[in-house]
Amino acid sequence: KDERPQVLVVAALMPWVMAQLRKHYQVHDRTHFATDPASVAAFEEAAPRIRAIAANGEAKVPRALLDRLPAVEVVTVFGVGYDGVDVPAAHERGIPVTNTPDVLTDDVADLGIALLLAIARRVPQADRFVREGKWPQGPMPLTRKVSGARIGIVGMGRIGQAIARRAEAFGMQISYTTRTPRADLPYRYSPDAATLAAEVDFLVAITPGGDATRGLISAQVLQALGPDGFFVNVARGSVADQPALIAALRDGVIAGAALDVFVDEPNVPPELMAMDNVVLSPHMASGTRQTREAMGQLMLDNLAAHFAGRPLLTPVGG
Ligand code: NDP
Repeated sequence: KDERPQVLVVAALMPWVMAQLRKHYQVHDRTHFATDPASVAAFEEAAPRIRAIAANGEAKVPRALLDRLPAVEVVTVFGVGYDGVDVPAAHERGIPVTNTPDVLTDDVADLGIALLLAIARRVPQADRFVREGKWPQGPMPLTRKVSGARIGIVGMGRIGQAIARRAEAFGMQISYTTRTPRADLPYRYSPDAATLAAEVDFLVAITPGGDATRGLISAQVLQALGPDGFFVNVARGSVADQPALIAALRDGVIAGAALDVFVDEPNVPPELMAMDNVVLSPHMASGTRQTREAMGQLMLDNLAAHFAGRPLLTPVGG
């Protein structure tokens, strides 16, 4: 009889992570449920004995799922953001949730800066300009200087601080907003996103997703950022009011935007696809081989720690 703990996988995880999971656990892979009725039947039969859930930042682990799985002891998330998991519902049941902080901080900050440079200096547009044979007809239009410009960071946690450190190397003037001012940091604090936006050339969102930040980058904030301002989103699509953002880009309310995240991924609104003052990226801020490997290992290590009765490495607080 197979005594290995039963784990429900609710997100598409990398093949080597799945292989490790299958080695140590009995795995029910929910991503196959649509095409494999046998896997659904096996899950239904095992549901009362499933002891762990493996998810990622996008996967939904709602209260209703926890209700169906009375034996769940831990929820492990591949990713630092866990807005798809109903953490209060888990904690009410005494179920800890783990994520993968820190190991991805550098990559997300790197991509935040890359996107900022890309939209200001029009790097993808420059590449298109050359490829489309426009150079012989004359030079490309001038772009926006980054070094020495003013950056406003919405969210000053692990990744926000890593973005700020990189911005320091560009001689940028750094300000930020959070709900709680960070007296330990040398950067200028703004009480809210609109006040911050009015004072900067580049506004970068790097908060968690979920209800607390939904629509934080509102029409009013974009208005405050103004016709020479650029918006960069490496947080979550939900953090910006996406229709308001599209309107602001269309009407020249802001100069441009570089976006790694969207409201209904992987669907990107066709309006954004058509705009030349937008740089698009497919939610890949942590997407390097090195970091995804570290994230996968940290998730597996959390799961292993739990079943060995050791303290979890990176539980989500609260
Ligand atoms: P942290 O928890 O370290 O930092 C979160 C920051 O956001 C804190 O400074 C917090 O300050 C601030 N914040 C939270 N709520 C609000 C609010 N309502 N208004 C203003 N500020 C707020 O998280 P990390 O830096 O590690 O990660 C941040 C987020 O980045 C993740 O949750 C995820 O959404 C996103 N991310 C995106 C990735 C991508 O691929 N694009 C990859 C990895 C992460 P305070 O609580 O004082 O308000």
